[in-house]
Amino acid sequence: MTSKHITHWIAGRPWSGTAERRGDVCDPATGRVAGQVDFAGIAEVDQAVGAAVEAFHGWRDVSVAKRTQVLFAFRELLNSHRDELASIIVSEHGKVHSDALGEIARGLEVVEYACGIPQLLKGGFTEQASTGIDVYSIRQPLGPVAIISPFNFPAMVPMWFFPIAIAAGNTVVVKPSEKDPSAANFLAGLWKQAGLPDGVFNVVHGDKTAVDRLLEHPDIKAVSFVGSTPIARYVYETGTRYGKRVQALGGAKNHMLVLPDADLDLAADAAVNAGFGAAGERCMAVSVLVAVDPIGDELVEKIKQRMATLTVGPGCNADSEMGPLVTGAHRDKVTSYLDAGIADGATLTVDGRSHPISGEDTSDGFWLGPTLFDHVKPGMSVYNDEIFGPVLSVVRVTTYDEGLELINANPYGNGTAVFTNDGGAARRFQHEVEVGMVGINVPIPVPVAYYSFGGWKSSLFGDTHAYGADGVHFFTRGKAVTQRWLDPSHGGINLGFPTNG
Ligand code: NAD
Repeated sequence: MTSKHITHWIAGRPWSGTAERRGDVCDPATGRVAGQVDFAGIAEVDQAVGAAVEAFHGWRDVSVAKRTQVLFAFRELLNSHRDELASIIVSEHGKVHSDALGEIARGLEVVEYACGIPQLLKGGFTEQASTGIDVYSIRQPLGPVAIISPFNFPAMVPMWFFPIAIAAGNTVVVKPSEKDPSAANFLAGLWKQAGLPDGVFNVVHGDKTAVDRLLEHPDIKAVSFVGSTPIARYVYETGTRYGKRVQALGGAKNHMLVLPDADLDLAADAAVNAGFGAAGERCMAVSVLVAVDPIGDELVEKIKQRMATLTVGPGCNADSEMGPLVTGAHRDKVTSYLDAGIADGATLTVDGRSHPISGEDTSDGFWLGPTLFDHVKPGMSVYNDEIFGPVLSVVRVTTYDEGLELINANPYGNGTAVFTNDGGAARRFQHEVEVGMVGINVPIPVPVAYYSFGGWKSSLFGDTHAYGADGVHFFTRGKAVTQRWLDPSHGGINLGFPTNG
């Protein structure tokens, strides 16, 4: 197989320079280096921002009707190329093909939402707010904005932001994860085909150097970041210090509370799906199952049985249900939690290291099978840390209140779920739980595109969630206009301060 070379996308074409630094891009299923990605230095970031600045002057003045036509064209192209994009994601991220299609579908939803931009940008109008005076509000784009994304959703996470940013008249510089950079370039090609003017959508690849330059660049007006909590905090603090609008979504430790009256088969299915889908590399993955006694033993048994049936193998194989982890280093880090959990006194009920890996040519891939810890307690590293792999921890509690307290004491607040057949208990949970996204008998409650996505506490820095109405608000700034047009019967001089009348 020939090694691929991935470079930046600036002003409507691939960058033609020679990079000083590059990173390896691997196929996680085989463990082989499949290509190299250029890492941007300050000059390349400046070039991309320069292209975005230049394009902004034209794009913000393109009519809403014409911008919408480009959005619709992009929607059609994305829809018809979804299989191709999914294969790219599988080859660099490792997730299974159906899951890659799923992330594209969720991104597509936001594109479709952004197609409604004429409606979303409508302002308010008050006729005769004062005698002969009307007041109205308009929302205008910010300028060039940066989108910095994590490895786990190389298509969906950038699409949480750029469709709305672009529809609203901004220009964009995306800095994807260096681990799976190709999806962003593919999306750039689709934008070009859709008729988006050059420079409205740019991609720079790289690491901290590129991120830091975007954070300090005076022409970048806003930053949407998604990644781990320490980097999200850093991006928020640095970006706001440079006077930018920043939304920085961080890590998670999502708890699923199972009450004694729940349907245990449904709960066990949900725990396995949400715990091990995408090998646990989802910010909305369930990583802690809180079982309210006396159902713990029965629930753990049902989960164990289901885990044994999972087919773990390359994401490109149709029968694989779970793929490898993204890199060898990440696999090793996740695996280190298995020994740490045992040393801390948790019960390793299912050891993912012995799960069979199906498929050919997988001996050097970044594998770890689904793993289950029981009798986990706060304070153990398997409980405290975001592991971001196929490791599910079961915590036993004796009451609903104890479970709620545990969830609310956790520093993260991204997603949570309650499983119960008691509507009153579910309603109490959604009222009392201190988490941004709540599922009721739904394990991965990612809101649809016309709501907004965002966690609380250490899962989000800033006050604006992603997409939906929050997204439109984030990528525009408001202006209120007070107008008077004198009719021919008025005239004369009045130096008094204008008051309502
Ligand atoms: P990461 O924080 O390592 O990287 C995210 C982005 O930041 C990448 O583009 C990376 O190049 C850049 N980056 C990394 N180190 C940096 C540094 N020191 N300075 C500046 N930039 C830096 O995250 P990841 O491993 O790619 O993704 C997994 C994490 O993302 C998990 O913690 C997961 O929970 C989180 N995540 C959160 C959400 C959410 O909605 N809250 C969604 C997806 C992923």
